[in-house]
Amino acid sequence: MGLFGGRKTVFVDADILVIGGGMAGCGATYEARHWGRDLKIVCVEKANIERSGAVAQGLYAINCYMGMQWGENQPEDHVRYARNDLMGLVREDLGYDIARHVDGSVHQFEEWGLPMMKDPKTGRYLREGKWQIMIHGESYKPIVAEAARKAATEVYNRIMVTHLLMDNKANRVSGAVGFNVRTGDFHVFRAKAVIISAGGASHIFKPRSVGEGMGRTWYAPWSSGSAYALPIQVGAKMMQMENRIVLARFKDGYGPVGAYFLHLKTYTQNGYGEEYESKWKEHTRALVGDYIDHHPTPTCLRNHAFLQEVAAGRGPIRMVTKEAFQDPHKETVGWENFLGMTIGQAVVWASQNIDPKEINPELTTSEPYVMGSHATCSGAWASGPEDCAPAGYQWGYNRMMTVDGLFGAGDTIGGTAHKFSSGSFTEGRIAAKAAVKYVMEKGRDQPQVSEEEYRDLEKLIYQPLENYRVGRNEIVAGTVSPSYLLPIHGLQRLEKIMDEYVGGIGVNYMTNDQLLSRGLELLAMLKEDMASMGAEDLHQLQRTWELNHRILTSESVTHHTLFRKETRWPGYYYRGDHMKLDDKDWHCFTLSRYDRHSGKWAMEKAPVHHIID
Ligand SMILES: Cc1cc2nc3c(=O)[nH]c(=O)nc-3n(C[C@H](O)[C@H](O)[C@H](O)COP(=O)(O)OP(=O)(O)OC[C@H]3O[C@@H](n4cnc5c(N)ncnc54)[C@H](O)[C@@H]3O)c2cc1C
Repeated sequence: MGLFGGRKTVFVDADILVIGGGMAGCGATYEARHWGRDLKIVCVEKANIERSGAVAQGLYAINCYMGMQWGENQPEDHVRYARNDLMGLVREDLGYDIARHVDGSVHQFEEWGLPMMKDPKTGRYLREGKWQIMIHGESYKPIVAEAARKAATEVYNRIMVTHLLMDNKANRVSGAVGFNVRTGDFHVFRAKAVIISAGGASHIFKPRSVGEGMGRTWYAPWSSGSAYALPIQVGAKMMQMENRIVLARFKDGYGPVGAYFLHLKTYTQNGYGEEYESKWKEHTRALVGDYIDHHPTPTCLRNHAFLQEVAAGRGPIRMVTKEAFQDPHKETVGWENFLGMTIGQAVVWASQNIDPKEINPELTTSEPYVMGSHATCSGAWASGPEDCAPAGYQWGYNRMMTVDGLFGAGDTIGGTAHKFSSGSFTEGRIAAKAAVKYVMEKGRDQPQVSEEEYRDLEKLIYQPLENYRVGRNEIVAGTVSPSYLLPIHGLQRLEKIMDEYVGGIGVNYMTNDQLLSRGLELLAMLKEDMASMGAEDLHQLQRTWELNHRILTSESVTHHTLFRKETRWPGYYYRGDHMKLDDKDWHCFTLSRYDRHSGKWAMEKAPVHHIID
């Protein structure tokens, strides 16, 4: 493709446009067809839905399954569990809505061919923990993608969506634009409703692995915050973006620890072979009150004890595997757990002479990520289900954001921690059902697409190719250009700002108002410099737009962190100037709205309604 010459503009009309074909996007595409038999359902994905998103390489467990058919758990129990883990702050209406439907999704996965592990005595799904069931999940994603492919009118793979289109007169979304990362073609999607399901954000904070190890992160490196940046750009309200996640994982390979704790019953010790969590109990109580006595201990508080013990000079923290691995069955499960999900951890152990039967492997805490579906719940502020959302949480259709016609699911939607893969798929289904209703009820009332808007965006999107084409003539040696910045430079600058000012690993997750304010100034300068980004090819153009999305996500995280004047989740981050949890003033959600014209952020509080006792 010539830089501007051979590029086509491809127009696609859809009733419902699903952006991101991961777990939530596949659920949305599948369900939209069920309710909208004659509608045009289009799914657009920047990779290939066959193997895209956080579940691309498979999973070993489905982490959200009630087991209502056997009376194992009820949806209310899951709401209580998530609320406890998030130190009180979840959208109970949304969480309840997922929990009451999630079992049906899991049963469908089995019908579609996902091999489930069963308890030979009871015939029930084999439990790894209270909420988790074990699967042979290498092909989890292709199985789910097949259902979406068959349901969709069309799936467009390899298209990175960069912006939403708006019918500004009506504060209504009217579609999206993006480019094909292989051919460079410009795509204009005109749609009556849009569902965003584009995953969370890695690489906004500096990762532990840099240099030769760069890209080795816990969270999928291709998750670039589009799920947040796309709605933020058009003024959708976001919630709890300060609630970044930090994970205790096996060192250097980020191998998961869930199956080890829950199934193999391994436990942790400090560098001197001592139990340490109980030692920090009183210290933690002084910060968060009786949340430390809750069962199970909230994830952030377990991180907190880990971090304190290491800071006190008694690291490294190790997982005691030597005992469990004497049992050949448990040893097999321990290795298979990685082979089914994080093969890299097995390779790291092999390369570092770690046989967990002989040596207790080290754990570490990860750099922070932004997610809406794991043990944190950052994301968009969404309308709740008609039958159980309190009045203040309802302004239209279920899972619709504060922009008309714009829906979301999975990592995109805030307030619903612990939905995981099955809950994200289920939330996609819920959002799609509501989006179909929206389209049907709007009838002939269609949003207007402005040609001027998408042509302006086209110029903006491809400008980095032009910057590179012109600017590279000034290079006399190497790759450093006086007039453009490469995406990798911008990414490393972003990670450094977020790490040092917003509470990353380099500062032991500590920040304060002074640091956050300076961080915002530096982010503004980085944003300014994005106009000088140079992209050598389409791959680098994609990197540029991913970086743009990461920067907007980071700005949002920083504003939210500054707004919440307390340390609600010690172990995820600390506000040095407000070290204690403050339920009196901050038992509330934080909301933000970005004005793309002025570049300003408006912050507000929203009440937390508890609908489950
Ligand atoms: C390391 C790890 C381990 C996990 N382990 C488990 C587990 O054991 N069990 C469990 O149940 N859950 C697990 N989860 C959680 C589960 O993977 C997520 O909850 C789920 O994938 C979220 O679904 P999603 O659709 O929101 O995001 P994803 O599944 O990540 O999908 C997002 C999709 O959007 C696409 N996309 C992104 N940006 C754009 C763009 N601009 N344009 C077009 N497409 C775009 C991506 O390519 C991707 O396909 C784990 C997650 C991680 C990261």
